[in-house]
Amino acid sequence: MAQEIERKFLVAGDYKSAAVSSSHIVQGYICSTGGRTVRVRLRDERAYLTIKGASDDGGLSRFEWETEIPSGDARELLHLAVGALIDKHRYLVPVGRHIFEVDEFHGDNEGLVMPPKVAPVQVCIVPIQQKKEAVLEKAYELRGRLKGNFRVKVDDTDKTPGYKFAEAEMRGYPIRVEIGPKDIEAGKCVLCRRDTREKLEVALDELEEKAGELLDTIQREMLERARVHRDTHTYEARDFEEFQRIFAEKAGFVKAMWCGDQACEDLIKEKMSVTSRCMPFEQEHLSDTCVCCGKTAKKMVYWGKAY
Ligand SMILES: [Zn+2]
Repeated sequence: MAQEIERKFLVAGDYKSAAVSSSHIVQGYICSTGGRTVRVRLRDERAYLTIKGASDDGGLSRFEWETEIPSGDARELLHLAVGALIDKHRYLVPVGRHIFEVDEFHGDNEGLVMPPKVAPVQVCIVPIQQKKEAVLEKAYELRGRLKGNFRVKVDDTDKTPGYKFAEAEMRGYPIRVEIGPKDIEAGKCVLCRRDTREKLEVALDELEEKAGELLDTIQREMLERARVHRDTHTYEARDFEEFQRIFAEKAGFVKAMWCGDQACEDLIKEKMSVTSRCMPFEQEHLSDTCVCCGKTAKKMVYWGKAY
């Protein structure tokens, strides 16, 4: 049985270029009671089931048992996970005689961020001091006005506003509307964007129009950010050495030429867990030869690491 030791450190400087390897991790917890956890983790192509014991020294160390399982089983088990799945990249960074693991989480730590077009709830109205007269009625009235055009809900549970805000963020509702007695008196409400967490005061009689504009803005800006992210994480390789080096050092897509031979594709998959992702209609000519075998290239292909 192994022992896990955890410490938290602040990281200064560029850990990515110092990293000797990186891996993509998706994991979830099947159960978690009294500090004991059962975890399913997909790491690159491989999958693991891990049982961790409770800590008796304040979380600094605890027992851990881990076994590799088929990744198909892991994907099934992840459906049973309690709470949100964790999606992160882990970098191994040597510092002196030690090797540090640096985890970079995707999304933010507050949970989901969803584009308005696919969000099951686009606008969540959170009444503040809802026990006061007319607050809930106003919240329901706003819902009535919005529901013709948007997917909207009122969080009228007994939880505190702070809890509701946190829950709305975790669930990734693109817009949260805050409305309380003072807002009603002033004829306004507050819209809060999930993606940037900016707040915006809006007159109540302009709510439909402003919410619609804001959802369009969120949709457009999220798409732009995703495109920039994709483009800045897409690299080009002209020979096999470069191809391997980029996948070892960076996370993203690599554009490279391919001869069209299945054998090269199989070799790349077997050796590097990398597979072809797209053969774009708009071809670019990066070089004359296949990145794998050096024979005449037929197509430019986007390659990616399989997770
Ligand atoms: Zn080839």
